[in-house]
Parts: sequence; C-alpha cells; structure tokens
Amino acid sequence: MKRETDLRFEVISVAKTIFKKGLVDNWEGNVSIRSDLKQEFYITPTLNNYLDLTEEKVVHMDFNGKILSNGTKPSTEAKMHSLLYSNRKKVRCIIHTHSLYATILSINHTNIPIIMEEQVILLGGSIEISEYKVAHTEEIGRAALIALNNKNAALLANHGAIICGKTVEHAIKFAEFLEKLSKIYWGALQIGNPQILSDKDYGGFLGDFENMFSC
Ligand SMILES: [Zn+2]
Repeated sequence: MKRETDLRFEVISVAKTIFKKGLVDNWEGNVSIRSDLKQEFYITPTLNNYLDLTEEKVVHMDFNGKILSNGTKPSTEAKMHSLLYSNRKKVRCIIHTHSLYATILSINHTNIPIIMEEQVILLGGSIEISEYKVAHTEEIGRAALIALNNKNAALLANHGAIICGKTVEHAIKFAEFLEKLSKIYWGALQIGNPQILSDKDYGGFLGDFENMFSC
C-alpha cells in the first residue's frame, strides 16, 4: 500500500513523463492516481505547469468531489476522474490529453476501427468517440464512461482523449500508443481506404487484453 506522499510523487512523475513525451501542454490535460486505501484519488491542479509541479500542488479528493487538501484547486476535469474511478474498480491511473492526432480525430467525430492487433491487446479494441458534452461537467464524464466501455482509451468529441490503466506504467504507455494509433489512422485516411481487421483476424488477441491489460 502506498503512502500519501508516494502517491503525490507518482502523480508528478506521470505528469512530467507525458509532458516530456509531448502528449500534453501546460494548462491542459490532467493526471490522477487512485488511493489504494479509500474512495479517494490524487490529481494534477488546474492551470498546471507540468515541469513546475510539486508535491504540495497535487490535489487530494474523494469520489464525491470533496477536496481533502489545502491550497491549489484540482483540474477542472476532476468530475470525470471521480466518475471513472467509481465505475471502473480496477483502474488505478487516468490520463486526459489533448494530444494532437487524437484531438484531430475527435473534432471529426471519427472513431478508430480495429486496424492493428496491438490496439486490441493494449486498449481492448476499437477506439470510440464519445457523444459531445461540455468540458468540465459530469456529463462529459458520463459520455467518457460510455465511450470507454470496458476498454482503456476513448476519444472525447471536440476535445481530446481519455486513457486509463491498472498501473501508472500502463496508462503512460496507452496514452502514447493512442496518439501513435491516431496518427497512423489519420495518415491512412489521407492515402485513402484503410483496411479494417476482421474479428477472425484479431479475435485471438482479446484474451491477451483480458489477461494482461484489462482494468
Ligand atoms: Zn481537456
């Protein structure tokens, strides 16, 4: 079981990692980690400057949206994180980004059909686009939950991406992979006629997802 300080440092580590990978810019996107002990989580603050993020700026909250720490305000998408933790019991880390190619697809309300086996193994299948809902509301959280279903990533209409993992390492990898997959699909659409895999092709990989990455 991790102590509060460890969880705060873990949030900082994930946040800085995704910033360095170019998946988020300052003042956008957010990261949270579930407490092992209670119905609580730790999340990046609003107007977050990633490289300046320190332990005391990480916000401690419960699943009802109550802020349990003093000082900075939480990310404005905290309601979405609460809702996902409440409904997806094995999720330990959530990352929200406006990464470029995922966001381009989200603007066009384009889902990503199954074009690569790796996508089935890591993310659980096709990447669905949520119904459009206004940012910072509980409604966008509900729309995210539906688009995610039992998978590890979804696109948020006209907004960006939501990613979850049962470990922080998984969540980072999936955020990175979702952006790469979005770029690949975007490129394939430019050439025209991307070929979609059939369930006969990818069906055998669903077991790998269940065994290793499902949460
Ligand atoms: Zn956002």
